[in-house]
Amino acid sequence: MGLSPVGILALQGDVREHRAVMESLGHHVVSVKTPGDLEAVSAMVLPGGESTAISLLLKSSGLLSPLRQRIADGMPTFGTCAGLVLLARSILDGRADQVQLDGIDAVVRRNGFGRQRFSFETRAEGAGPLQGMSLPAVFIRAPLIESVGDDVEILATIDRDGEDTAVLIRQGSVLAGSFHPELTSDRRCHEVFSTMVEQGTVHTTL
Ligand code: GLN
Repeated sequence: MGLSPVGILALQGDVREHRAVMESLGHHVVSVKTPGDLEAVSAMVLPGGESTAISLLLKSSGLLSPLRQRIADGMPTFGTCAGLVLLARSILDGRADQVQLDGIDAVVRRNGFGRQRFSFETRAEGAGPLQGMSLPAVFIRAPLIESVGDDVEILATIDRDGEDTAVLIRQGSVLAGSFHPELTSDRRCHEVFSTMVEQGTVHTTL
């Protein structure tokens, strides 16, 4: 049996890059634009892009409530950058009309790295399943994870002005990062997600 089908929210953002990585790991990938598309997948990737634009499109496509429900029901979900903003329990500096999927107990400041650090590249230090690994991390108008709840694991950090700052976090079946692993050739973050997908999916015999 092949690996589980993974959906990529294909309303706006860097959909193609995530698709390429998930396909290279052996998953069948479905572009999700409608509630019907969502029904066909066992897991979802929420790409980077612009969380305010994706918010509007989630509402107009009818995906908002079924997606929120699937995440609440434990569907493995991986959000990067704007995807993290959408998944966070609480957003600072967001737009009043932007939506939250309540996937992970984190407070995230939109564009929180400040103007002077609009876009930069560094190395992140892994923890948990990424322990001992140094990961290339590209940040583009990235959200800053300001705090996380007790049930949230920190899977990678960067040194930011001498302080360890979480950049990849996980709670249950939700993985979220402030950077863009899909823009480098390093697949280890997606491998962690792929493992979550395979462990978190109930395979039923029809
Ligand atoms: N600043 C964007 C937002 O708020 C995120 C940027 C990105 O995904 N690269 O949605």
